[in-house]
Amino acid sequence: MLLRHTTATEYKREALTINPAKTCQPVGAMYCALGVHGCLPHSHGSQGCCSYHRSALTRHYKEPVMAATSSFTEGSSVFGGQANLLTGLENIFTIYDPEIVAVHSTCLSETIGDDLPQIIGKARSEGKIPLGKHVIPASTPSYVGSHVTGYANMLKAFVSYFPETTGTKIDQLNILSGWVEPADMRELKRIVSMMGLNAVVLPDTSDVLDTPMTGKYKMYPDGGTTIPDMVSMGDSWHTIALGEFCTRDAATELENKCKVKFSMRELPIGLSATDRFIKALRRYGKVSVPKEVEDERGRLVDVITDMHQYLYGKRVALFGDPDHLVPLTQFLADCGMKPVYVVSGTPGKIFTPLMEKALNGRVPEAKIMNGERADMFQLHQWIKQEGVDLLIGNTYGKYIARDENIPFVRYGFPILDRIGHSYFPSVGYLGGIRLLEKILGVLMDKIDATCPESKFELVM
Ligand code: SF4
Repeated sequence: MLLRHTTATEYKREALTINPAKTCQPVGAMYCALGVHGCLPHSHGSQGCCSYHRSALTRHYKEPVMAATSSFTEGSSVFGGQANLLTGLENIFTIYDPEIVAVHSTCLSETIGDDLPQIIGKARSEGKIPLGKHVIPASTPSYVGSHVTGYANMLKAFVSYFPETTGTKIDQLNILSGWVEPADMRELKRIVSMMGLNAVVLPDTSDVLDTPMTGKYKMYPDGGTTIPDMVSMGDSWHTIALGEFCTRDAATELENKCKVKFSMRELPIGLSATDRFIKALRRYGKVSVPKEVEDERGRLVDVITDMHQYLYGKRVALFGDPDHLVPLTQFLADCGMKPVYVVSGTPGKIFTPLMEKALNGRVPEAKIMNGERADMFQLHQWIKQEGVDLLIGNTYGKYIARDENIPFVRYGFPILDRIGHSYFPSVGYLGGIRLLEKILGVLMDKIDATCPESKFELVM
């Protein structure tokens, strides 16, 4: 009984979060920066912060994550980190030779008021940034928002810096990808290519955090959105922004800066959200949907239909990131399941309306909560009050799943105790089939493990 102190009775809490359903902003900023080719993330704060951000990503992706730090000491904590960042940038370009350094702030540097654009301007005027190299700043104080906010802030920083308008439009779409796995980013590109379109996907962590073992170490792997691609985004026809929380700010920035209109879509997780993504590609790319895409959709519909009796009416609790939860919840409801509890630690008033739209009145008993007070303790209390058949969330859910003996599907960030999430996509129609495979696997395992012998079936 790992969480034996969790009670079904709820007491009023105002300033206490227990087991938050989020992590800190710079983790997201670092992940986003790794999706740009030749970019070295830099954490402007203490070594401890940077070590945590790197290890959180390394443990999830099972890949080395390179990042630099301003290595604050007691002195810089009091007098400011300017000197550390100036020295740091000089050393980074001399030793590691990145194309871009993406600097994000931390709780400490934000609290003491370090002005990143001013310090970077000083570094440039003092010749510490070689010609042709780039340093971009993103403000990511971790006492507000979550890792999702950090991702959004870093994505906006890239968009503020690189895209340019030449006045001539090019036959290209921009896709601002929310926080998804490297395999998902690869899958987005595959879908775009099947539709016969050209697109710049920003960021793109495929071939960065899922690189093949070749025996040769590359400080900057082959993948990632390139600088010319980012620059060209200012001349694209249109931007499709995937995920309200991760990409709206960047899409708005790009529209204001380069007059590239954007449309918001959910991440294409599940049937309906993928349908909307395909429709957006068809509409803004002015193409028709090829048969191979229709066939993939048909296969997902076939699996949903074949397995409906195992899915129908199952009560599900979910926690994690809002851009995942909205389409995932809709997918579960589309499959006849009942997403009854949904919790996200990422704040944002738009979450509940988006969830209500996704559920469309199909689960009137659903409890939805997000923000600082929306923690896993609350989720556990709800589960204790009225149980669920399935729990979906990151690795931290395993304590609840074990204590309550609930089938558990790992989904989201971080996943620290399994592999596969970074190699197999969960976006698109194929991703929908994989999600169902995982869900059905744990539901059927529970039936096999607990049903009476008379009901123990070879064929299910
Ligand atoms: S929450 Fe703040 S202090 Fe803690 S690791 Fe993140 S940036 Fe550093």
